[in-house]
Amino acid sequence: MYHSDIIVIGAGPAGLSAAIRARRVRTYNLLTSSVTIISNSSPGGLADWTKVRMTGDGWSYEKGEVISRLMKDVEDFCIPVIQERVTGVEREGDLFRVTTDKGEYTSLAVVVATGMRMTWNEREFFKKGLFGTLKGYRFMEDHFRELCEREQGKTMVFVGTREMDKTVEFFQEINKGRMDVKRVLDSGDNILGYGDGMVVRTRDGDVRGDHVLIDFESYMLSTYTGDMIACDKDRENFIISRGRCAVDEGLFAAGDVTGPPFSLAKAVGEGTTAGLESYRYAYSKKFNKEAPVFAFYPIHKDGKPTYFQIPELEDRFRPKILGGYEIRGGKIVFRECELDHSEFNMALIEMCDGTRNMGELRRELGDVDPVIRALIHGKDLTVEV
Ligand SMILES: Cc1cc2nc3c(=O)[nH]c(=O)nc-3n(C[C@H](O)[C@H](O)[C@H](O)COP(=O)(O)OP(=O)(O)OC[C@H]3O[C@@H](n4cnc5c(N)ncnc54)[C@H](O)[C@@H]3O)c2cc1C
Repeated sequence: MYHSDIIVIGAGPAGLSAAIRARRVRTYNLLTSSVTIISNSSPGGLADWTKVRMTGDGWSYEKGEVISRLMKDVEDFCIPVIQERVTGVEREGDLFRVTTDKGEYTSLAVVVATGMRMTWNEREFFKKGLFGTLKGYRFMEDHFRELCEREQGKTMVFVGTREMDKTVEFFQEINKGRMDVKRVLDSGDNILGYGDGMVVRTRDGDVRGDHVLIDFESYMLSTYTGDMIACDKDRENFIISRGRCAVDEGLFAAGDVTGPPFSLAKAVGEGTTAGLESYRYAYSKKFNKEAPVFAFYPIHKDGKPTYFQIPELEDRFRPKILGGYEIRGGKIVFRECELDHSEFNMALIEMCDGTRNMGELRRELGDVDPVIRALIHGKDLTVEV
């Protein structure tokens, strides 16, 4: 038994897109998978606390729009978001063991979408003492000049990777001793968040200043978030994925953690690919055959479509009703589907409690397929173990 078919680590645009896509597979003969997101900060990632736009030449989605749409889907599809920090991912036979600062979770597949740096509660302090290097050095030059003039005698705390020296050097050229400078080296797990003040909370104690500058340039040159897992990485520590976001068997990576370009559109695109690929992987593990994910991966070239066949489940993959239901006006009402309030339907629903597999349901009740199909189609039934 394991916790979730797929565990997605990180709740930025890449992780949210992966989780939604892995959960939301809408063809008639597919069982939806159980998906869990684990993220150390509230959902949104970097895209939620800076002014990030998903943009083309003639169109643009503002940050709030993209993240709020993704979050609505996460809620609609009942994807649990566990707020914990992942410290390690290890393979154990057929499963992955994901260790966090509070517990352990197991899954068939893992999607790593941890971005270029860990986010904490920065969004609470953004532009209230906390800044980030962005828009390039020309913009920073103007910003530093104005800040050093205004804040003489105060303290600036730089947070970044070991590559941050270049930014500090650049600041010092403009500063000319007017502001004090402190550095906090982000080594992947030493920063615990930010506090009023401005305080950088680290495992070694609080570092106080008047301003904090997060040096994104240094993270873009060398990241830490992939450290939790042993897999191929490039010289800058970004995870190397082969085609279709695959890193290793059952292991996928998406978004900034795979390196540049750092972009919302790329994160959503790779997240979508990693979500579908992890779904296909989990499905083939469970049913020992290719998932017929029509349109995304046409596979019925042999002219033998398997529409409406609901696969038998092995004992260890038990079905469970995901959404709650209520009884209204002679109908059993789910989130997306309604059934007649008959004795047969009630018996079936009560049996879908995670203790019987599909074969047992059929043996006990006869032809349950039309009802099961309606529940699956309405995304009210999932496979959960
Ligand atoms: C200042 C700035 C401005 C930007 N502007 C734009 C823009 O205008 N347009 C654009 O397209 N892109 C822009 N970007 C880039 C864009 O924000 C990122 O490419 C995008 O957010 C990447 O998404 P992601 O999901 O890969 O990572 P992130 O958004 O970084 O999300 C990573 C998630 O993983 C979590 N996480 C990390 N480590 C762990 C762990 N160990 N355990 C649990 N959870 C963990 C984090 O808390 C976070 O939730 C900008 C970036 C910056 C820094």
